[in-house]
Amino acid sequence: MDEAFHSHPSTPVGAQRSNDPNADILFVRGEGVYLWDAEGRRYLDFVSGYSSTTFGHCHPQLVKAATDQLSMLTQIVGLKHPWRKELEARLAQLAPTPAPVKTWLATSGARAVEIAWKIAYAFRPGLLVAFDLAYHGRSMATGQISDTHRLPILSTQSDRHLPFPRCSECPVGLQPKTCNAECIDDSEGWIDENASKLSAIIVEPAIGARGYFYAPPQFFQRLQTAARRYGILLIDDEIQMGLGRLGGVFAAKMQGWEPDLAILGKSLGGGIVPIAAVIGRSAIMDSLPEGYESETFAANPLACRLALESLDLLIRDRMLDRTHLISSWIDSGLRSLQKKSKHPIRVDCQGASGVIEILQSPNKTDSNDPNDLSTPQTIARRWVMQARDSGLLLQLSGPQRNRIILIPPLVAEEHHIRHAFNILRKIN
Ligand code: PLP
Repeated sequence: MDEAFHSHPSTPVGAQRSNDPNADILFVRGEGVYLWDAEGRRYLDFVSGYSSTTFGHCHPQLVKAATDQLSMLTQIVGLKHPWRKELEARLAQLAPTPAPVKTWLATSGARAVEIAWKIAYAFRPGLLVAFDLAYHGRSMATGQISDTHRLPILSTQSDRHLPFPRCSECPVGLQPKTCNAECIDDSEGWIDENASKLSAIIVEPAIGARGYFYAPPQFFQRLQTAARRYGILLIDDEIQMGLGRLGGVFAAKMQGWEPDLAILGKSLGGGIVPIAAVIGRSAIMDSLPEGYESETFAANPLACRLALESLDLLIRDRMLDRTHLISSWIDSGLRSLQKKSKHPIRVDCQGASGVIEILQSPNKTDSNDPNDLSTPQTIARRWVMQARDSGLLLQLSGPQRNRIILIPPLVAEEHHIRHAFNILRKIN
């Protein structure tokens, strides 16, 4: 690789900024669970592009499909091609929404959320309500419903974000396995009072980008009942949690609820091309009049081909079956880390994802270790940076930035997960 590529200008010229602890590494290659930097250092990638490289980096089957397609047909706008037709049909078969179903293909997660929002509005005009901790994208529209970094450019959709469950801090001390999602009682009351103003409610099957908070299935089931009572639409944003992260192509199916519209993105393009999809009840999907939505690169042959290949990997080649294996390896790693941790931590795991939450130390002054005087945020950041220096990439997240997220790709083996926890045990 040439010299100019390696030299870092002292003044950055890219305008995008990031406080991701891994943001200063120059990555040049990826294969399976690993990434390599420009100095040849290898990293276990347990960030997986925030779930956009669920099949690992440069999966040979996906690379082959991409290479085939590159010399066949890559881009046409708004015209028919076989890969699009097949993808729409496949997604319709897999949908968690009641049949008959139609699919709308988009170029990114945020655009797909906007399209679902437009469709919902066309079917039932009114406000779109989201949950706290939600992340649905950072476009001008989706930024208004994501519960973070909202600019006061547009008036917010609703002055209210409904509370998403925080089971580890349940105010009435209930357990998610046995509770009746009592935390939704107040939201139900609010929905009852405001139903006539509401178009739709959008929810993730677990909070993703804001720190991996999991909710029990009964929460979604009760939400569905509350929305259905008034004909309010339920939009299921599975951009991060679908395609195997929680265990199904659609997590909603596993959780036993039926959204009206469901959205996939991220790994749908195999980590190679951007593509997202809105899948929903035909009667609702048909309500957006012609001309209200289009994108130049949406549904292009290359993206559709890779989405078909990604679904084949998950279903035909049974990669979906690996979610529960990975889940059990993460779970046992987390439990043993918790037993041995010097710092108080809370751990949680669902599907192929795990969370380590650094808690406030009860007796900070008892130790000579200066790190014991640090806040949970600084400890979490230090863990992520030390993990990185030991060759493990993790994600720092949560509203307090004290949650460390592990999302390995589905190609990870037990020894990869063990290695990751060995690194974590040494750090702490
Ligand atoms: N919705 C969810 C649940 C997400 O996790 C994300 C991205 O992290 C988005 C929407 C936005 O997707 P994109 O970044 O492709 O626009």
